[in-house]
Amino acid sequence: MTKHIFVTGGVTSSLGKGIVAASLAKLLQARGLRVTIQKFDPYINVDPGTLNPYEHGECYVTDDGAETDLDLGHYERFLNINTSQDNNVTTGRVYQTVIERERAGDYLGKTVQVIPHITDEIKRRMKMLANTGDYDVLITELGGTVGDIESLPYIESVRQMKWELGSQNCIVIHLTLLPYLSAAGELKTKPTQHSVKELAKNGIQPDILVCRTEHPVSDEIKAKLALFCNVDDNSVIECADADSIYHVPIALQEEKIDTIVLDKLRIQNRKKPDLRKWKQFLDRIQKPKKAVTIGLVGKYVELPDAYKSIQEAFVHAGAFHQCKVNVVSVHSEHINEDTVDELLADKDAVLVAPGFGDRGIEGKIEAVKYVRENKIPFLGICLGMQCAVIEFARNVLGLTDAHSSEMDRTTEAPVIDLMEAQKRVTKMGGTMRLGAYECSLKEDSHAIKAYKSSKIEERHRHRFEFNNKFLKQFEQAGLLAVGINEMSELVEIVELDNNQHPWFVGVQFHPELKSRVIAPHPLFRDLVKAAINHNKQ
Ligand code: GLN
Repeated sequence: MTKHIFVTGGVTSSLGKGIVAASLAKLLQARGLRVTIQKFDPYINVDPGTLNPYEHGECYVTDDGAETDLDLGHYERFLNINTSQDNNVTTGRVYQTVIERERAGDYLGKTVQVIPHITDEIKRRMKMLANTGDYDVLITELGGTVGDIESLPYIESVRQMKWELGSQNCIVIHLTLLPYLSAAGELKTKPTQHSVKELAKNGIQPDILVCRTEHPVSDEIKAKLALFCNVDDNSVIECADADSIYHVPIALQEEKIDTIVLDKLRIQNRKKPDLRKWKQFLDRIQKPKKAVTIGLVGKYVELPDAYKSIQEAFVHAGAFHQCKVNVVSVHSEHINEDTVDELLADKDAVLVAPGFGDRGIEGKIEAVKYVRENKIPFLGICLGMQCAVIEFARNVLGLTDAHSSEMDRTTEAPVIDLMEAQKRVTKMGGTMRLGAYECSLKEDSHAIKAYKSSKIEERHRHRFEFNNKFLKQFEQAGLLAVGINEMSELVEIVELDNNQHPWFVGVQFHPELKSRVIAPHPLFRDLVKAAINHNKQ
């Protein structure tokens, strides 16, 4: 039987529930247990696909094409697993299902209510992955903060789950903040006491408290929290700020969170956790032997979470080379002919980021021109690849009007154009080309050298594509289509000919989504290698 662990958050948002959930999962996985994580988000959007990155950070995409919360990226990166549509549920999706059932007449004349109908649907989804029989432990992270109106149906569902399954099969971990008052010189426990009371009011007694803190938590404070919050003495866990999110599993292990969880859930597993690879990775990021600076050109640079997976992919690739990768954000709206040299000349490589709409687009195109002409290693992702195609069309092929029809519907040279299938789409949500698609790689390309395979699968999230009408012209001038989806003949990867540039790669898919701690993505790995070579020169 699958054991359930719920992770709730109190006091404030942004405490890092996703990282704590992923870290605990890592520790349990390291003992040979089969673990996965799911996230329940209390907003009404059916999925985060329609959200601006400024709202919730990047939208993470799974193999099966689900547009999900960025925490699923942490789960995949920490655990080296694939998640799916079932791992992320929102209030919108729950209500959508219940309302569709009501319209179908499934409730037989009953009044449809939050309790039991919404909570039943939440519980059904909470149990879905457990019912597959594929997991020993299922961790469920609840988005939002305890006390929010939106969270109530979820809290009630957790209460019912605990009641149904019993305390040996289902536990609740509450993540809170211990603020430090410098005037008093102490950590304060009151906000935690209040948020535990809030949970208790809804019938939930947390089993473990994980306390985010900027200062060490003394045994005295732990004892006080245990007493006032009604948890076992050993079940107050310190979670101090860490230099790297990848250190959190080790920090939590030092607090013995994994053995406490195993005891509470009566899991007879006394295998020693195998964290060798994880620790090697930590060692490599802590003791870099060299450093490179990579420019990340995008328009959402004010919010670090907007390019989360790209940032993390650089950490993984940097560890591989034992190289510190300094990722410097460059706002695409600040780049123009006059500023580009100052902004990019000192970069060892440049990545042009994904995106939608035309804000900052000319800056991205200018950046590509600069790195192409100055032979700076380049990776363009999705819109970044499209910019590389537009730039080449304008400045090498002489199609001065070239553009993507996303930005300019009337361009004479729509080198990036809407796919046929997309022309009929009228709805926004879930209608892009989404999820994993196959791609065949050409001999002698940077891509095939990186992947060491001629068939790959990568995740997509876009509506526009390379326009094959122009393919011959591009290839004759040296921008080669080296990755093709054979079913649809869509161009997935373009590269500049080797004799024109040392490392210039544009990909229509999102490689960053598949980079893992113990398996850095081949393209990021080779981009960092190219950056190291560039730096040596
Ligand atoms: N806006 C582009 C498209 O829809 C690129 C999308 C992206 O970068 N994810 O095709």
